[in-house]
Amino acid sequence: MRKIILFLVCAFAIQSQAQQRPKLVVGIVVDQMKLEYLYRFSDDYSNRGFKRLMDKGFTFHNMNYNYVPTYTAPGHASIYTGTTPAVHGIIGNDWYVRSTGKNMYCTDDSSVTTLVPGTEKEGAMSPKNLLSTTITDEFQMATNFKGKVIGMSIKDRGAILPAGHFANWAFWCTKSGAFISSSFYGDKMPDWVTQFNSEKNYMKYIDKGWSLLKPVDTYNESIADNNPYEGKLGKTEPPVFPYNLSKIYKESGMEVLKSTPFGNDFLAELAMRAIDKEELGKDNVTDFLAVSFSSTDYVGHNFGPRSMEIQDTYLRLDLTIADFLEYLDAKVGKDNYLVFLTADHAVAENPKYLQDHKYDVTNIPSKETSTSLNKFSMDTYGVNLVLNYSNFNVFLNRELIKEKGLDLAKVKESFKDFLMKQVYVKRVYTQEEILGATGQDYYLNFIFKGYDAKESGDLVIVQGVGYLESIETGTTHGTPNSYDTNVPLLFYGWHVPVGESYKKEYITEIAPTLSKMLKITFPNGTECEVLEELFEKK
Ligand code: ZN
Ligand code: ZN
Ligand code: ZN
Repeated sequence: MRKIILFLVCAFAIQSQAQQRPKLVVGIVVDQMKLEYLYRFSDDYSNRGFKRLMDKGFTFHNMNYNYVPTYTAPGHASIYTGTTPAVHGIIGNDWYVRSTGKNMYCTDDSSVTTLVPGTEKEGAMSPKNLLSTTITDEFQMATNFKGKVIGMSIKDRGAILPAGHFANWAFWCTKSGAFISSSFYGDKMPDWVTQFNSEKNYMKYIDKGWSLLKPVDTYNESIADNNPYEGKLGKTEPPVFPYNLSKIYKESGMEVLKSTPFGNDFLAELAMRAIDKEELGKDNVTDFLAVSFSSTDYVGHNFGPRSMEIQDTYLRLDLTIADFLEYLDAKVGKDNYLVFLTADHAVAENPKYLQDHKYDVTNIPSKETSTSLNKFSMDTYGVNLVLNYSNFNVFLNRELIKEKGLDLAKVKESFKDFLMKQVYVKRVYTQEEILGATGQDYYLNFIFKGYDAKESGDLVIVQGVGYLESIETGTTHGTPNSYDTNVPLLFYGWHVPVGESYKKEYITEIAPTLSKMLKITFPNGTECEVLEELFEKK
């Protein structure tokens, strides 16, 4: 009898332990999504997509990035590590490396090879440069590597960084439209991905073309279709619906799909295939699927945040997410999965659009900063002491400064004085000032959290609000200004209360919050702040 009771107690313990986690966690990053898009297009969304996540889940209305630069690779790394570039080391999409004198791409890794012949450069990638653990890494250890972790995106960095160091797979899309992976993850591509690639599913979108999803008067939240703030799609097409994608495809290949909403649909097809073929969320060991939708970023850069094209992209993404949620309902079960949705950064307005509405902002010509720095150096020192200017960082040639018998601190000060005279420069900080930050200076805090003492520059610049680099049409991002830092965060599903919060929160709280929900260790670089609203007992 005692044996039976003991057996029952054990069986119950195992059972309840297995039920302490959802069957599947789905992390969704929408590249370049401004929080505003949840509100602005709200009348035109379905009830099955964004609104389902908001109405039946928890909405954070004031989620923010707390470092610079606000780019894709640092964004994805920060969401999943719960810390900032100063700790996880992903300080840009690419960055200048002093020891080699060259730029390095965030996920380049020459020690691994592609698994798909013909994609040697695109496939030599891994999370090697990501210094801290991700929530997905901690999750793998917590399940004793029995759960599955898969990351996927059109962009390599959007797939690789979220999936972490212990991922089963990360898949990203080549210029020719194939999803690939590297020898970091396995010896050969899974058969189901090879099969998916052979189907060339993107062609159905190319053949169909891109026209407005809804009647044109639905788009009254956006400016006229043909406006001076939009870039072209392909080489010749004016920025006007409907787009003949077959024609552009013939000129410039499959790449065009990325700059349409259908890049997201193409990825969603792969995500659903993965759930089916890898049996994600089927057994009692939790699996983790990290999906990053990139087309929102390509469309945003090209057409800008006020375009009908971006509105149409979000109306379509709403339906893509709706179908995806219903797929999860059917495959994993309504109460068995946990979803979070956020963005890797937001984006600025087009400067010319603001000028035309009488806000006197300035477009800084591309290379303006590098050119003027080089000129200042030649005029002052008779030699160019600047090695590189990128990601708002100035790298000085320390060897040459020493060789010339110059004092590095004085040289830095002279460059700082010069930069501060430029109308578009708000602040300049030296490495010493950055590393000695006390937390009192608003702008310095952003730089401090994005600064790697070994990899970053000698000086870092903050541009004033209203100054954008080299943007004629479309837009860009990267600054500490709220238009770049304010993003949505939605939690939905397993154990998520219905609610909303307007408290100021930081992007680095997402991963530790997931740690608490899943009852696992914090990622190793996080400051362990959690979104307490999700745990408050009613
Ligand atoms: Zn991005
Ligand atoms: Zn247009
Ligand atoms: Zn971007």
